[in-house]
Amino acid sequence: QSRDLQEAQAVLQQVFGYPSFRGLQAEVVAEAVAGRDALVLMPTGAGKSLCYQVPAIVRQRQGKGVTLVVSPLIALMHDQVGALEEVGVQAAFLNSSQDFEATKRIERALLAGELTLLYAAPERVTNARFQALLDSLHERGLLSLFAIDEAHCVSQWGHDFREDYLQLNLLHERYPEVPRLALTATADSHTRADMVERLQLQDAQVFISSFDRPNIRYRVVEKKDPRAQFLRFLYDEHRGDAGIVYCGSRKKVDETAEWLEQQGIKALPYHAGLDQAKRAKHQDRFLREDGVVMVATIAFGMGIDKPDVRFVAHLDLPKNIEGYYQETGRAGRDGEPANAWMAYGLADVVQQRRMIDESPAHEDFKRIQRSKLDALLALAESTDCRRQRLLAYFDEDSQPCGNCDNCLQPPAVWDATEPARMALSC
Ligand code: ADP
Ligand code: MG
Ligand code: ZN
Repeated sequence: QSRDLQEAQAVLQQVFGYPSFRGLQAEVVAEAVAGRDALVLMPTGAGKSLCYQVPAIVRQRQGKGVTLVVSPLIALMHDQVGALEEVGVQAAFLNSSQDFEATKRIERALLAGELTLLYAAPERVTNARFQALLDSLHERGLLSLFAIDEAHCVSQWGHDFREDYLQLNLLHERYPEVPRLALTATADSHTRADMVERLQLQDAQVFISSFDRPNIRYRVVEKKDPRAQFLRFLYDEHRGDAGIVYCGSRKKVDETAEWLEQQGIKALPYHAGLDQAKRAKHQDRFLREDGVVMVATIAFGMGIDKPDVRFVAHLDLPKNIEGYYQETGRAGRDGEPANAWMAYGLADVVQQRRMIDESPAHEDFKRIQRSKLDALLALAESTDCRRQRLLAYFDEDSQPCGNCDNCLQPPAVWDATEPARMALSC
């Protein structure tokens, strides 16, 4: 056990060049190296990747074979594999963007036991050709570990549900003794329970770290003239900074990006309606250039590791607190001060309620969506510490933070009871 941890420590230092593990990383790594299932709930930026990358390397060195990493995003796999190759780790990914030759090359390396980590999209798991590869590795004892990244995608209660994630149980059913590590930045209790059930992780050790992001300053303003309000915020506090502006629709994304351009701000749109090449280009510019403002729907952001995003602004209401937390969490990953700014208005609430009411979803599902929306409204309308409320939603106790709008300027005039009452009656 402690020998494992020593080896893991050595890998961390020699391969990745980091002096020590952070937070719960060491515990998670020890669990995974030992071959026990684990469910890891850590906020964005906490360092979940190392939780499976280090065990993958240690176990490969012990002759246990390859770690399969399931990840929902092609761009992300690409980045991670590139970063691993740079530090000399044998890693590859399989996805639909590759030609036959490239695929064959990776498959050969995989079967020869040369790879330490193989990244694949979830839909790969149901592919017969891929299963034959896994079977072959498994028969020879070379299937070391399954890492399921962004595991909340398996839950319909979550905000990123992906049908393909439901198939991941196949891995467990076919190879029950291969240990699994499921990782997510979502700690909402509904989603967590759903994840455990759907991935059959009842026996997994659960690791939950604090979800607090102390350097993020939360602020909610009453939505009046959101463009003017946002521009003032931008000019006063974030000239030349990189940031993300979330809007509720594709159309609004396009309009807002164009309008910001006209104001002389380097803004780019991002949403699922843009073609793949354009999305990739915009994401790339956001990551590599300084001071790009990405105007986006929630299609943008999962897994984005850009340390110096200085603000996240919501021009429209997110769907729930999980979404809000995830989206705002993309700010300030470098630990430096960052702002989470949201314009909140009743019209948004009315619209979201209508969308839920009119959706063809099951009534149970709608009920949960409504209660989640209500929790977000309570946060938006609260006159006490926002961070405390946010963390309380994730079952975490805390004290007033001193770094949110309500802590810094206790509200006296804004009476929340009236809009709240109206919101509940509409
Ligand atoms: P997550 O998946 O939890 O959002 P990542 O795995 O993308 O986070 O890691 C975020 C950043 O933190 C990365 O740049 C990573 O290299 C860095 N990091 C992770 N663990 C450590 C550590 N122990 N020491 C130093 N940097 C770390
Ligand atoms: Mg991650
Ligand atoms: Zn506070």
